Amino acid sequence: MSMFCFQCEQTAKGTACTTGGVCGKKAATATLQDQLIAELIGLAGAVGSSKAAGSTCKVVVDALFATVTNVSFDDGAILRLIEIVKAEKCRIASKSEDSESEISGGDNDLSRLWETNEDIRSLKSLLLFGMKGMAAYAYHAAVLGKTDHEVNSFFFKGLRALGEDKPADELLGLLMELGNVNLKCMEILDAANTGAYGNPVPTSVSCTVEPGPFIVISGHDLYDLKLLLEQTKDKGINIYTHSELLPAHGYPELKKYPHLKGNFGTAWQNQQREFEGIPAPVLFTTNCLMPVKRSYADRVFTTSVVSYPEIAHIGEDKDFSAVINKALELGGYAEPHTITGINGGDTLMTGFAQNTVLSVAGMVIDAVKAGAIRHFFLVGGCDGAKPGRNYYTEFVQQAPGDTIILTLACGKYRFNDLNIGEIGGLPRILDMGQCNDAYSAIKVAVALAEAFECGVNDLPLTLVLSWYEQKAVCILLTLLALGIKNIYIGPSLPAFISPNILGALVDMFSLTPISTPEADLKAILG
Ligand code: SF4
Repeated sequence: MSMFCFQCEQTAKGTACTTGGVCGKKAATATLQDQLIAELIGLAGAVGSSKAAGSTCKVVVDALFATVTNVSFDDGAILRLIEIVKAEKCRIASKSEDSESEISGGDNDLSRLWETNEDIRSLKSLLLFGMKGMAAYAYHAAVLGKTDHEVNSFFFKGLRALGEDKPADELLGLLMELGNVNLKCMEILDAANTGAYGNPVPTSVSCTVEPGPFIVISGHDLYDLKLLLEQTKDKGINIYTHSELLPAHGYPELKKYPHLKGNFGTAWQNQQREFEGIPAPVLFTTNCLMPVKRSYADRVFTTSVVSYPEIAHIGEDKDFSAVINKALELGGYAEPHTITGINGGDTLMTGFAQNTVLSVAGMVIDAVKAGAIRHFFLVGGCDGAKPGRNYYTEFVQQAPGDTIILTLACGKYRFNDLNIGEIGGLPRILDMGQCNDAYSAIKVAVALAEAFECGVNDLPLTLVLSWYEQKAVCILLTLLALGIKNIYIGPSLPAFISPNILGALVDMFSLTPISTPEADLKAILG
C-alpha cells in the first residue's frame, strides 16, 4: 500500500485509494498531504489553549483547504505549506514553556490514524474531513475580511483531538460541536458575501457563449470573480461562470457587470470533455480541478490554494493579465456556442437565497395551508462522476407537481435545466446557491417552522442529499447537530463511516441511504 485516502465519494472500490487516487492524486502527493496534516496537529499542540494569532489561523485554514479533494495536485505547493506550518510551529514553540515532545509534529504519523480501531478511525475521519470542509468556508469569509474566534479556535481543538487518545463518545461530542461551529462559519460567509455583493435576486442565466474573446471562471470564490470582472472591464472580453460559480449571477454587485454573460458547461466532473478545444482560458479559484489534459493545459490557470504541476498560477497580487492576454490571443468562438444542461435546457435560474424565499413566505405559507404545496424537498449537495447520480434527476422529475424543490451546490446540475413548472408564480425548482448556502436553506426551514409553530422535523420538508467531498461532511454534521432527522443521503455511503458509527447515526438521526426515487418518494409522501 503506497498511500491511504478515503476522504471522497469516488474512493477506489468504495473502500480506499491505496496505489493512486481515482481523482488523479498521486501516492506521493497523498503522503505529503498526510504529512501536512501531521504538522498541523503539531502546530495545534504548540498553540495549546492559547489564543492563536490571526496569521497562525490563516496558516491552518490554507493548509487544511489545500488537502480538500480536487484542490492541489502539486507536491511543490504542499511542500511549501509543510515548511510554513513547521516554521510557525517553531516560532510558537520558541516562545512556549512546553516541552519539545508536546509540540512535536513528527510524532503525529497519520498512518497510525488510518490503522487504528475502525470506529475511532471513523469518528476521527469525520472530524478531520469536516474541518477540511469548514476551512474552505473560513477561507472564503477571510478573503472578505470576516473571521470568527469560535471557528478559528475549533480548528486547533479538533486538530489536537486527532493526535490524542479519545473515547468514542467524546469524539462524537466533538463532531456535534464542529457541526454547530460550521453553522457559525457559514453564517459569517453568508454575511461576508451578502455584505460585499448584496442579497441574491432571481436571475435567468444563459448557457450560450457569445462570439468573441471570453474567460471561464470556476470554483467558488466570488472575490476572485469580482476582481476578474474589474480587470476585464471595457476590454471586449466576456466572462462565463462554471459549475459552483453559477450562483454569482444572482448577486447585484456582480450581475451589474454587463460582460458577466452566462454559464459555461455543467458540473465539475464533465470539465475534461467540456474544456476540450475551448478557445478561451479557464481560471480555477477553488476546487474542483480535475487532472488537466494536455490538449487544453496551455489555457488553464489556478489561483489561491488550487495548484497543479506546470500549470500557470496567479499569485496573491491577483494580477489576471496572463489570463486576459490568453483570452485575447485565443479569440473565443466565431459563432454562438451553447452547452446545454444534461437534460437539454439552455437557461438556468438561480438567486433564490433566503432573502428572496422569505420575501414570499406569506404566499408560501398560504399555499401550504391551502394544499397547493404538499411538500418541500431540499435536493442538493455535490455532483460527481460515479454512476447512480441519475437518482437525483429522476427524483426531481418524479416529485409530484404540488411539491417544491429547494436546491444548492453543484448537484443541481442533474436537474437545474428542467422546466417542471410553477406553483403560484414560484418556480418549482429554487436554486439557493453554493454548498455553503446551506445556511440559507437552514434559515428558511427555521422560519417556516416558526410560522407553522412546529419543529423543523415536523415540517413537510425532506432533505435528499448527494455528497462527494469534505465540504459535504461539515454540512452534514451541521444538519445533525441541529437535530435534523430523516435525511436521505447518497449516492453511496462514505467509506470512512464504519458499520457501528453508521448504526449510531441511523439510531440517533434516522439517516437513510437513498434507494430508488419511486421507493423513497413513496416512503416520504405515502
Ligand atoms: Fe481517492 Fe478521493 Fe482521496 Fe482522491 S480524494 S485519493 S479519489 S479518496
